[in-house]
Amino acid sequence: MGTVEEVAARVSAARAEAVARGETFYPGPSRVHLAAFPPKERWDDWVELDSQDWPRRTERHYLLVPTTCFNCESACGLLAYVDRDTAQVRKFEGNPEHPGSRGRNCAKGPATINQVTDPDRILQPLKRVGARGAGRWEPVSWDEALDDIAGRIRTAIVEGRRNEIMYHVGRPGEDGFTERVLASWGVDGHNSHTNVCSSGARAGYHLWTGIDRPSPDHASADVILLISSHLEAGHYFNPHAQRVMEAKQRGAKLIVFDTRLSNTATHADVWVSPQPGSEPAILLAIVAHLLRTGRYDREFMRRWWNWAEYLAAEHPDRPATFEEFEAVLGELYAPYTFELAEQESGVGAGTIARIAELVAGAGTRLSTHTWRSASAGNLGGWQVARTLFLLNAMLGAVATPGGTYPNAWNKFVPRPLYTPPHPQTWNELTWPLEYPLALNEMSFLLPHFLKEGRGKLDVYFTRVYNPVWTNPDGLSWMEVLTDEAMVGLHVALTPTWSETAFLADYVLPMGLGPERHDLHSYEQYDGQWVAFRQPVLRAARERLGQQVSDTREVNPGQVWEENEFWIELSWRIDPDGCLGIRRYHESQKEPGTKLSVDEYYGWIFEHSVPGLPAAAAADGLTPLAYMRRYGAFEIRAGVGPVHEQEVPADELIEVGEDEYGRVYTRAPAPMSPNVVPTATPEPDAQGRRPVGVRVDGVVRRGFPTPSGKLEFYSRTLAAWGWREQAVPGYQRSHVHPAAMEPDQLVLISTFRLPTQIHTRGGNAKWLDELAHTNPLWIHPQDATRIGVGAGDLVRVETEIGAFVVKAWVTEGIRPGVVACSHHMGRWKLGSAERGQRQMMATVDLTRDDGRWRMTRLAGVAPYESGDPDTARIWWSDVGVHQNLTFPVHPDPISGQHCWHQAVRVRRAGPDEAYGDITVDTAKAHEVYRRWLALTLPADRHSPDGTRRPYWLMRPLKPAKDVFALPFAPAVDPDGTNR
Ligand code: SF4
Repeated sequence: MGTVEEVAARVSAARAEAVARGETFYPGPSRVHLAAFPPKERWDDWVELDSQDWPRRTERHYLLVPTTCFNCESACGLLAYVDRDTAQVRKFEGNPEHPGSRGRNCAKGPATINQVTDPDRILQPLKRVGARGAGRWEPVSWDEALDDIAGRIRTAIVEGRRNEIMYHVGRPGEDGFTERVLASWGVDGHNSHTNVCSSGARAGYHLWTGIDRPSPDHASADVILLISSHLEAGHYFNPHAQRVMEAKQRGAKLIVFDTRLSNTATHADVWVSPQPGSEPAILLAIVAHLLRTGRYDREFMRRWWNWAEYLAAEHPDRPATFEEFEAVLGELYAPYTFELAEQESGVGAGTIARIAELVAGAGTRLSTHTWRSASAGNLGGWQVARTLFLLNAMLGAVATPGGTYPNAWNKFVPRPLYTPPHPQTWNELTWPLEYPLALNEMSFLLPHFLKEGRGKLDVYFTRVYNPVWTNPDGLSWMEVLTDEAMVGLHVALTPTWSETAFLADYVLPMGLGPERHDLHSYEQYDGQWVAFRQPVLRAARERLGQQVSDTREVNPGQVWEENEFWIELSWRIDPDGCLGIRRYHESQKEPGTKLSVDEYYGWIFEHSVPGLPAAAAADGLTPLAYMRRYGAFEIRAGVGPVHEQEVPADELIEVGEDEYGRVYTRAPAPMSPNVVPTATPEPDAQGRRPVGVRVDGVVRRGFPTPSGKLEFYSRTLAAWGWREQAVPGYQRSHVHPAAMEPDQLVLISTFRLPTQIHTRGGNAKWLDELAHTNPLWIHPQDATRIGVGAGDLVRVETEIGAFVVKAWVTEGIRPGVVACSHHMGRWKLGSAERGQRQMMATVDLTRDDGRWRMTRLAGVAPYESGDPDTARIWWSDVGVHQNLTFPVHPDPISGQHCWHQAVRVRRAGPDEAYGDITVDTAKAHEVYRRWLALTLPADRHSPDGTRRPYWLMRPLKPAKDVFALPFAPAVDPDGTNR
């Protein structure tokens, strides 16, 4: 293709040649060459030729309406091409006004049009007929569904059963709207998918910085170190990938740790394929090299690490000097030689030494990132993030150009119209005593907690979440979701059919990305932006002068959006306002009437987004109209090192200071987004809030950690019984060779396919055509040993069951390890009346005393529908659902499910068929109990009588007094709580 300029030059040359030949050169209706984005001034009437009318030149006129993509967490900008003649969306392309994605998308963005036009999508509210899960449905009105659900919630609240209300979200796609709804109901009912996703990495980052995500400045880095397949499928991968490639074009070096030869690994300057779980050993060998060679930023470490606290706690007999700390550090990590790292990881010592040299040479331009990958696969995986960030902390590559920032500084969460109080209740179904340090809800243990009788649910919402398919141990989910004594009412809020929606009482059709409102901001470079997801047909109609007050007026069928749904539901829970709920869902402009989404977002854009009102006024627009027209707004670029900011004198009122320089104040917290921490460090004994930390005599903003500094040493881990884990270290994984039998292999099950959308890609035909199978990657040595070739069926045995899948023999995986993408294997029961037919196999599922057996009745096949393409489906395979055969493996500290499995793989027998699955859920419960025994529960190990350290992040944080244990903890006599 070449650059834009080169393409433009070629177009000009072609034009000149055509004119010279005497031909009429047709410049195209837009007069803008194809490599350029439509300029925003022409979004009201953008003209293109109709590609389907070729070779005729039929011009189509479009309104271009921005929204944000909902097909992963990156929230890239999209432009809907709304045909001015038909008032329908013709296609989606990138929004050049979006600062994060800058007009670019991956394949999943444009495939949004497939989801909108999917002939199998759910278009009306449905109520089950017969037994739950029997697969029969009848239409129901929104009114009937809302009244039933609201009545049950109201009764539960009035009867003091608030913990029986739970909202369980997969992809939130918004910043806090629903958490505030739940807070307004006074329930601690938020549940998420995060512990099957990113809690491991979050814990590692949070313990260092007080903030749970990294924001690497890849574009300005000299060395980029990824422990993930981040260029093809990772977190924020399109916005990050384009910046990684910019850096590479500049000459930056890319280092990738990935056991699998992913597309990301193929772009690396140095790719290593470590034994799963050994990544921290390699990182610590690099640390030891930096220490041995003195190539670290002494001054940064002296100023910003909590080394003094560490020495006092762990080496009180040694001098409290930084020089002494350096000596201790050298001793601590000296055992991590390149040779030891080679022994643990299987990566050659010479290669590790080469990586260490690259890292050492990066200085403050080292950007690093891990998210799921190794930190989500292994027992102790949170130490992957902790040891990776240790490299940044040693080089001073923290909040520097080309370094790695804490995410909250490159993200902007505006203040909402209402902030209901923190709930006065604690839900132990999501935050059990056994996991006081878990970064997020222990969501994937819910079936086991319900089976143990720890509680029950009266109203359970699943929202864009499919735990039966996504989570490990899905058949235990099926057992509890079909038991009305455990789950009274299950409401599935979903745009499309899922294995979990089949087990609902109500299936309520919710909007896809271009059919709903949400507000976003994500850390994708050193800047802050907000982007607005909106129902594009609503915005188009409004641009043409029509009023739309309910998104159902423009969405297909009776599809709604959740924000309007929650407002309506809250009104019906509290129709007269006596429960104190309704007031958070009322208009401020017209008290006593319902809040509208226009007022809600209009208020935020007007009052809470710095610079937006002025930018809008310059365009002659209101802030809301500006966001409806352009879709995104950059608040600032170049945020820089927030921790270095001096705390202004007016914020230092009646200050207190601890022995390590943490400074507390009685001044109220300022509203500036740069200084609002996303964690809540503990106030001091006098109730003053932490405001900064004294560094060389100056009070600086610091980090939202207990010490205000980067916490090399976590006093929290030490105090809650994990002293040996309080500094970055290496813990052998549950799939370390020493923990496995000689005939076992490690199964990596966590990787994404770049063109699928977890549980939501099945309704996108282009994506289904691109990716519809998940063979088992197996090295030729292992394949030869078990006697299989490419395409042969293999049986993969886990602790609780087995699945049968095809083998893919490849040197792209290390010997002793096999890999299978989790993105495949969708299914529906033969009895189901409805379902997604492009990507769901039809199966038979039987249960015999806790032993489940799934067999495949049919793959997918062509079918007639309103979309002629469904008659052209040429594939029948949809892959195999491996997660059903995995037991839960909750990490005792982070709470992350440790996905890697120790498995046996053999050639499938003559009586075994593709897609066969067997599972023993009684064994699954035994495995759960075994991992539960690894924990240090708060009721026996809390150092201060609380359930959980108050400073740790927690979604929908309850009131502070609810953190107190209802009884005194039983502290062990030696005072160590162990
Ligand atoms: S990376 Fe792809 S799927 Fe994710 S938001 Fe961007 S366009 Fe959508």
